[in-house]
Amino acid sequence: MTKRRPCIAGNWKMNMNVADSLKFITEFTHELKAVGDRDVVIAPPFTSLYSSGVALADSELKLASQNVHWEDSGAFTGEIAAPFLVDVGCTYVIIGHSERRQYFGETDETVNKRLHAALRHGLTPIVCVGELLEERESNKTWDVIERQLKGAFANVTMSADNMPLIAYEPVWAIGTGKTASPAQAQEVHAMIREWVGRAFDAATADAVRILYGGSMKPSNSRELISQPDIDGGLIGGAALNPEHFAAIVRSAV
Ligand code: PEP
Repeated sequence: MTKRRPCIAGNWKMNMNVADSLKFITEFTHELKAVGDRDVVIAPPFTSLYSSGVALADSELKLASQNVHWEDSGAFTGEIAAPFLVDVGCTYVIIGHSERRQYFGETDETVNKRLHAALRHGLTPIVCVGELLEERESNKTWDVIERQLKGAFANVTMSADNMPLIAYEPVWAIGTGKTASPAQAQEVHAMIREWVGRAFDAATADAVRILYGGSMKPSNSRELISQPDIDGGLIGGAALNPEHFAAIVRSAV
């Protein structure tokens, strides 16, 4: 079995102006000291990407965008294209976050288009999937996740050079303080890995990193990340606090 390198990604959502972003980076790097054998990613809002990229130039921390458009340029007011993200130092991009799906009309089809664009430009995608509470309660969790995976990965080639990450984020656990139990999360992660094996091949299933997201915090991250199929976390609220985010990173071993 491949030893998968843990990845801890902080999604700042629509928080942190330029000054706040730079302050966070200073405090977080001081607090964390060493990244170690992990990938540590922050996803500031668009307005902070350039200054954060400059601040991170000599750092092992990685910069992510929270979204990417599928075209490379053009008349798409309010959108951002992959080449611009690469230009400011992004190496990762979050795609299909549930808030994009819920509030901004993101569909499995647009997730797929964004994923293709990210891969075309060498950005490492973090593709988010997850079920609503009513879907879980009516035993539709896997149907929903499978539909999202099939849609997102349509006609995608998985290459070891730039393998997308998948984030399982039960929507009922995002920003609610309700975390999936380690067993609940592990069950879905294992099913996602099996799906990757069926859709691609066993080596890809073994190598793909699957992150958990949904109210992850220092008090629960170690137990979640120690599950066999949980390879790290996508963190919202706790990623706005340098001490908490550093503690989560340290818990990923
Ligand atoms: C997220 O937005 O991806 C997330 C997991 O948020 P939170 O950690 O606040 O639940």
